[in-house]
Amino acid sequence: MRSDDDQWTITESVGVTALGVASARAMETRRPDGLVEDPHAASFVDAVRDEVDLPTEVDPRADPSDVASGVMSTYVGVRSRWFDEHLLDAARDGTDQVVILASGLDTRPQRLDWPSGTTVFEIDQADVVDFKDRILTETEGSPEPAGGVRRVALRVDLRDDWPAALHEAGLDPARPTAWLAEGLLPYLPAQAEVDLFDRVVELSAPGSRIAVEHFGDAVKNLDDDELMATSSRNFGVDVRELFFSDERPDPRERLRARGWTVDEQSSADAARSYGRPLEGPAEAAFARSVFFEARHP
Ligand code: SAM
Repeated sequence: MRSDDDQWTITESVGVTALGVASARAMETRRPDGLVEDPHAASFVDAVRDEVDLPTEVDPRADPSDVASGVMSTYVGVRSRWFDEHLLDAARDGTDQVVILASGLDTRPQRLDWPSGTTVFEIDQADVVDFKDRILTETEGSPEPAGGVRRVALRVDLRDDWPAALHEAGLDPARPTAWLAEGLLPYLPAQAEVDLFDRVVELSAPGSRIAVEHFGDAVKNLDDDELMATSSRNFGVDVRELFFSDERPDPRERLRARGWTVDEQSSADAARSYGRPLEGPAEAAFARSVFFEARHP
């Protein structure tokens, strides 16, 4: 189903996963105990409802372990919150350039309270960025965030020469950068993932950090995974076929070998720390991933 240079629109292939995450953030935004507030998420989902029909609200009658709504919302809420906190910590510690690799339909430049003077670079495929900009223009008048934060959206494939695009757009590799790779790695072939971390290391001045959602081997055996099966039915795309499961080195080891320090937390522990644990079969969704932050001392 995937090929080395495949491209997609927002309603096809990997593009649909960005909508799926937006659907979960919309549900989470409307929950009283929500971990993330994304006022734009529902607009993206509503805009293409004729083609991909996804929820924007948790069904109040559904059991919390209902995979279509409760689990998706909780998992994405936990992960968004964890990465929001890590990026904002970096920004408040003085890092004024942030790079979101595979930003999808996330709206961090708009929805987070950045210190004035922060630049947030977003990278995703052209059609995904175009769709996001179009909907933000229709609903907000502009895709640009208010306040003292600057957003620079780059339409470039992460299997291509994205460092050149970042240089051209003004990233300064002599100053620290806060990087994010959330909901990305399994969609990259092994070599592209290896190259991605090598390039991040090359572009990172001392003091830089990267926050990562890491799945490791968990994407290899998803045949009995209820969340994946349900999401695939809802998305109209078999998500498991979108993952590359070719063997790849552990990025934590490679970063440590280059002198970076790594701190990690399982997504299950993060969920418990936010008071949103999931039990029973839903736990499988949390058993798959760890969140880590690596720092270049
Ligand atoms: N990080 C966002 C979030 O959490 O809302 C989006 C996650 S979504 C599951 C995956 C995103 O990765 C999609 O927006 C997709 O377009 C992007 N993506 C995957 N492979 C890519 C590539 N080779 N180049 C650019 N973007 C890519």
